[in-house]
Amino acid sequence: ARVPVWPGGATAGPDGEDGAATGGVRLSGVRKSFGSLDIIHGIDLSIPEGAFTVFVGPSGCGKSTLLRMIAGLEEVSDGLIAIKGRDVTDLDPSDRGIAMVFQSYALYPHMSVRDNLAFGLKMANTPKAEIDRRVAAASAILKTDRLLDRRPGQLSGGQRQRVAIGRAIVRKPDVFLFDEPLSNLDAELRVSMRIEIARLHRELGNTMIYVTHDQTEAMTLADMIVVLREGRIEQVGSPREIYENPANSFVAGFIGSPR
Ligand code: ADP
Ligand code: MG
Repeated sequence: ARVPVWPGGATAGPDGEDGAATGGVRLSGVRKSFGSLDIIHGIDLSIPEGAFTVFVGPSGCGKSTLLRMIAGLEEVSDGLIAIKGRDVTDLDPSDRGIAMVFQSYALYPHMSVRDNLAFGLKMANTPKAEIDRRVAAASAILKTDRLLDRRPGQLSGGQRQRVAIGRAIVRKPDVFLFDEPLSNLDAELRVSMRIEIARLHRELGNTMIYVTHDQTEAMTLADMIVVLREGRIEQVGSPREIYENPANSFVAGFIGSPR
C-alpha cells in the first residue's frame, strides 16, 4: 500500500515543507514502466498553484506519459500524485479536478459547437441552466459565440482548437493540462493561439501544465519550465533562470538551439 508521505528536497516552487499542503500539483517518486521498459525514472516536482508550468524536452522524453499520469489516463508504476493537497494517485480522471486539451481536437463531427461544449456536462447530469451559463461564459472567453450553431467541419483549425479548449473551460477544472495543443496548426496560427492561451491563463488564473517540444512556446508561456530528458528532470526554473543559467550542456543546447 502507498503511504502518502512526501519526501523533502528535490522540489521546486514556493510551497512549504509539507508538500501535501500545496494548492498546485505535487509529484513524488513518480515512475512509469511499459513492460520492462523504464520510461519515467522517479520524478519529484512541486507545481505551485496558479502557475503556468511547461514540460519541455525532445520527442520521446516522456512528456505525454507524465501528463497522462497526472490526468489519470495512465497509471503510475510507483509514486504519488497530489492535486490541491489531495492524493489523487488512485482516482479516476473525472475525479481529479483536471481537464485536458489534446493536439488532435477530437471534436464530435456530427454535433454543433454548442453540443460539443455541453456534452461532458450533460454526461455529468449538470442542470441545463447551468450548462447554458457555462457554455456562454466559455464562448465569451474564447470568442466562439457566433460559432455555436456550426459543426466542427465548418470551422477553421484555430476555431476548432478554441472549441477544444472551451470543452475544458466549461468543466471548471482546478488544473488545465495541455498536450502539444498547437502542434497541428500552421506557424501563424500557432503564434496567435499561444497569445490566446496566455490570455486565458491571465483571466482564469488556474494552474496550467503545458507540454511542448517547442522551446519558443516554453519560453514565452511559462512561469516555470521543467526540462525533461529521457524520463528525468534536467532543470526546473523560470524561463529567465534557465536561459541565463542552464544547468548543463543539454539544457543549454536544447533551450538555446533554433527550432
Ligand atoms: P513525448 O510526449 O515526450 O514525446 P511520450 O511520453 O509519448 O514522449 O513517450 C515516452 C516514451 O515512452 C517513448 O519512448 C514512447 O515510445 C514510450 N511509450 C509511450 N507510451 C507507451 C505505451 N503505451 N507502451 C509502450 N511504450 C510507450
Ligand atoms: Mg507527447
